[in-house]
Amino acid sequence: MIVALLGAGVVPAETPILRADDLGAVRGDGVFETMHVRGGEPWLLDEHLARMGRSAARLAISLPSTEELTALAAQACAAWDPAVEGALRLICTRGPDSGGDPTVYATLGPVGEAILRGRRDGIAVRTLPLGVDAEARVSSPWLLAGAKTLSYAVNMASLRAAGAAGADDALWVSADGYALEGPTATLVWLTDGTLCTVPAERTGILAGTTARHLLDRAGELGYRTDERLIRPEELAATDGVWLTSSVRGAVEIRSLDEKPLGPSAETARIQKLLGFTA
Ligand code: PLP
Repeated sequence: MIVALLGAGVVPAETPILRADDLGAVRGDGVFETMHVRGGEPWLLDEHLARMGRSAARLAISLPSTEELTALAAQACAAWDPAVEGALRLICTRGPDSGGDPTVYATLGPVGEAILRGRRDGIAVRTLPLGVDAEARVSSPWLLAGAKTLSYAVNMASLRAAGAAGADDALWVSADGYALEGPTATLVWLTDGTLCTVPAERTGILAGTTARHLLDRAGELGYRTDERLIRPEELAATDGVWLTSSVRGAVEIRSLDEKPLGPSAETARIQKLLGFTA
C-alpha cells in the first residue's frame, strides 16, 4: 500500500498518521472518497473532489483546496505501478479533539479479488431494511444525507449481514418499500431501453459518481435515462440490474434474495463504456 500525507508526500506505509484523539478515529468524524486508478491516474478525480467538497461542507469541516488534494492524489499515483489497477482513498478527518488542523492523507492499494470476481460473474444481493422512509432523511440535515462520511460502521455491518445470509452484497430498502442503494454502491437498472437509477436529491442516498457518468454517456449505448424509485420486487421484470461504484465499475446482480436475475447481455457493454473489462 502507498500512503501519502498532505504536505509531506509519500511516506513509508507504517508511518503513524493519526493522533490518539483524532476525531476521525474516535467519532468517525470526517469525509473520504474512493476512486479507481487506471493507467496510473485517478478516474473521475474532479467529480470525486467535488463530492468531497459537498460532504465536508455538510460536516462543516474545512477541506484543503482542490489543488492541494489533486497534488496529494498525484503524489500517491506517481508511486504506483501504472500497469496495475488501484483503489485510491482520500481521507480528511476533523483532526485532533484537542484542536488543530484536519488530518488529510491518501492510501492507494490493489483492487481486491472479490471485486474482480463480481465484475466477471455477477453477485448475489440480499435486501436489508433501512428503517426510514425513502424521502425522510433529506429534511433533517444532521442525518448527513448524501455526505460520504467516515462513519461506515453501519455500512460494513450491512455487508456482514448480507454475507451471513450467503450473499455478496446488500441493497437497503426504505420503510415504505423502495430500493435505495447498496452500502458501498448505487443501484442501476435497465427497463424498456431506459437506464435508471434512484434519485439522490430526493432520497438522501449518496450521489454515485459512477452511475452519474454512466447515465450521462448512456446515449452512446442507445439508452434513454431516468431517475425514479423502484420496489425490489419490480427489479425481476427489468432487463438488467447492476450495482455501480468507482472501483468495481458495474457488477450485475445475478440474484436478489435468492431469486435469480439476468444474465443481461448489456453487462459487457456497460463495463466497456466505463472502461472496465470483466
Ligand atoms: N453509495 C454508497 C453508500 C457508497 O459508499 C458508494 C461508494 O463508495 C456509492 C454509492 C457509489 O459511489 P461512486 O460511484 O461514487 O463510487
